[in-house]
Amino acid sequence: MPERIHLSRAHVSELEEKYVLEALRSGWVAPLGPMVDRFEAAIAEFVGVEHALALSSGTAALHLALLDIGAGPGRAVVLPSMTFAASANAVAYTGADLVLVDSGDDANVDVGLLLDTVRTLRSEGVDVAAVMTVDLMGRCCDYTALTVALAELDVPLIEDAAEALGATHRGRGAGSFGRSAALSFNGNKIMTTSGGGMLLSDDGELIARARYLSTQARQPVPWYEHTDIGYNYRLSNILAALGMAQLERLPSMIERRRAIRERYAVGLADVAGLTFLGRDQGGDAEDNHWLTAVLLDPATVTVTPTELMAGLDADGIEARHLWKPMHLQPVFAGSRAAVTGTSERLFSTGVTLPSGSELDEDAIDRVIASLRRHLGAS
Ligand SMILES: *Cc1c(COP(=O)(O)O)cnc(C)c1O
Repeated sequence: MPERIHLSRAHVSELEEKYVLEALRSGWVAPLGPMVDRFEAAIAEFVGVEHALALSSGTAALHLALLDIGAGPGRAVVLPSMTFAASANAVAYTGADLVLVDSGDDANVDVGLLLDTVRTLRSEGVDVAAVMTVDLMGRCCDYTALTVALAELDVPLIEDAAEALGATHRGRGAGSFGRSAALSFNGNKIMTTSGGGMLLSDDGELIARARYLSTQARQPVPWYEHTDIGYNYRLSNILAALGMAQLERLPSMIERRRAIRERYAVGLADVAGLTFLGRDQGGDAEDNHWLTAVLLDPATVTVTPTELMAGLDADGIEARHLWKPMHLQPVFAGSRAAVTGTSERLFSTGVTLPSGSELDEDAIDRVIASLRRHLGAS
């Protein structure tokens, strides 16, 4: 039985071993240290922002971003319905109301519908604390239209760029569009610290305040003095070392994921009723190619995503559904939602394929052969 092919596994090399060992031997075995400082500076420079705060998760970064804009009970945060639950969970932590907005064809939020929703809420007297965008599957939203309109409406933008490090929109880095932005270095993301995240902003005071809250809100006095509720959200120096090695290798890992998508596209070009998310909706040159997903047109393709995934699984290949929209999740069923049906259609027709940068040509060719067989294309 050949080795199982996974969706997106951590891809580490001797460089990671070297840096982690160096950090261990340096004696900085704590959630602070020189590697944390270096990692923050390096990520800020890579993305193109002034300041960065290394954290224990992307979810923690979103939570701190939401606290900064004063999200809380009686206020609303508008965000895409199609996302990973962490985006919505972070809003729920603050007690703010979620307002969910449907997707456009490329799965990212429908910008027109988002702006209409904000205007409608305003006209009803709802206090809109923020809009949170998500750069889904490593593809930036259309910030050209969005940022101008939000500035006119005077609504702050929080960017959930957890999936999109290394992607750009008109040359600008994912993570640089909001008042603040969140990155994730979870094990399945395009680069990893095994678990971790980063809050980004051009606003030094915002980052200083978040840094204070992330270390249990200690007052600068010789004893433990607290005037705010704090959190334990910092990243360890050991994991920052892992992150430094991953960041050095990130351009080559993105290149590898891009080549994998290209190989799928060539190998499946003749299969009727199959399109590539992003690539076939306006091109994907600026995406980071984190995960490659295909959409199965039910008018042409006779198998469902669930059946296809079962077939792939039997061949030792892991594949997944696209994110199930939040307005269809039992836990968020009570939230207000502006729905067109697009995200539900994407969810019911999409399959995410093995995309990890550690996969070699043989592995991708095995996936292509299995897909062709189960799609009846032989
Ligand atoms: C992974 C992810 C997060 C959360 O990141 P963690 O580091 O796992 O907490 C948030 N939003 C999106 C869209 C994600 O994919």
